[in-house]
Amino acid sequence: MTSSPVRTKPWPQWPPPATDEQREALLAVLDSGLWGATNGPEVEDFAAAFAKSVGAPYGVCTVNNTVGLFLALRAVGVEPGDEVIVPAYTFVASASAVVLAGARPVLADVHPDTLLVDPDAVAALVGPRTGAVMTVHLSGAVADAGVPGVPVVEDAAQAHGAVRGGRAAGTLGDAGCFSFQSSKAMTAGEGGVVVTADRGTYERLWSLHNVGRKLGGGWYEHPSLGWNLRMTGFQAAVLRPQLAQLPAQIDRRTRSVAVLAQALADVEGLSVRPAPPDTERHTWHLAMLRYDAAAFGGRTKDDFIAAMAAEGIPLDAGYQPLSVEPSLAAYAGPCPVAEAQAAATVWVRQHLLMADDDAMADIARAARKVREAFTRPA
Ligand SMILES: *Cc1c(COP(=O)(O)O)cnc(C)c1O
Repeated sequence: MTSSPVRTKPWPQWPPPATDEQREALLAVLDSGLWGATNGPEVEDFAAAFAKSVGAPYGVCTVNNTVGLFLALRAVGVEPGDEVIVPAYTFVASASAVVLAGARPVLADVHPDTLLVDPDAVAALVGPRTGAVMTVHLSGAVADAGVPGVPVVEDAAQAHGAVRGGRAAGTLGDAGCFSFQSSKAMTAGEGGVVVTADRGTYERLWSLHNVGRKLGGGWYEHPSLGWNLRMTGFQAAVLRPQLAQLPAQIDRRTRSVAVLAQALADVEGLSVRPAPPDTERHTWHLAMLRYDAAAFGGRTKDDFIAAMAAEGIPLDAGYQPLSVEPSLAAYAGPCPVAEAQAAATVWVRQHLLMADDDAMADIARAARKVREAFTRPA
């Protein structure tokens, strides 16, 4: 497009600038010389504080959420050779963690509107080899928990603070796994935490991530097999103050999405995908938009994303469904809903949603301009 771009102003950075509290906490760990999870108090304190923030009695911090999912799968009893049901539209780690645990991911198709796992698809896949269901709270919306009688591991990498039907993300199933990787709503660059309400699951998580030690046992006592998958005190120091910042950040994104949805009301073929009906707090880690190519002159979503980028709006194509990932070809069956809907899905990421109301109006204005250009008669 030759005209000047709709937006030239920069977008907020994620993560936001460090606070004095984070700086002081980080230096305090550095100066203490107690940098690890097994000598300083920070990691255990943060695990407990995070768990409490979601209403779970226990938490174990990990090096990242990929291994958090692995730990949770093992801790709820998944064994090599088991099947674990995973949604088809999610980050690849949801499935690769299952492979790491020696199990087989079985892909369940998703709901065409929310892109969250379809509980009927899950129920149809449960069989004698099913070791667990992994539910994924994609974009900050809480997905359905699973199937009675089958352990549930929640991939809540994108859902810090999300609530549905009175339950916080991470507390619907047997273990809830959160990520603190750079792009997430709480971050230390890398990191993760697994929460649980069950004492036995907690003890297994603790042992698995701490080289098979036993709570209260000796340093060189390893009654079960485990690995060093612990977080550092530096990460905990950077994370702890974010617990207090999270609610206002969620509020900002919630307002942004409301403004954006309103502004898109008169842009045919582009809308914010809905959350499940009983959602109490969607955290809007992402806003997933439905892009209807037919309303945009038949142009693909990649054309749309490129045209929006030229207008100063950096949108994201999001995942391709796991059913078409070559690395998972050995496991994947077709998931027609996920495959069709992925082609009709564009993401507005968290750092854009942290901008102001005018920025949301810019997104809608750019979309309108692109649509006019795509549908203008030749
Ligand atoms: C980020 C993410 C993960 C992986 O978390 P890491 O901490 O990067 O290992 C897993 N699942 C989903 C849905 C994610 O968004």
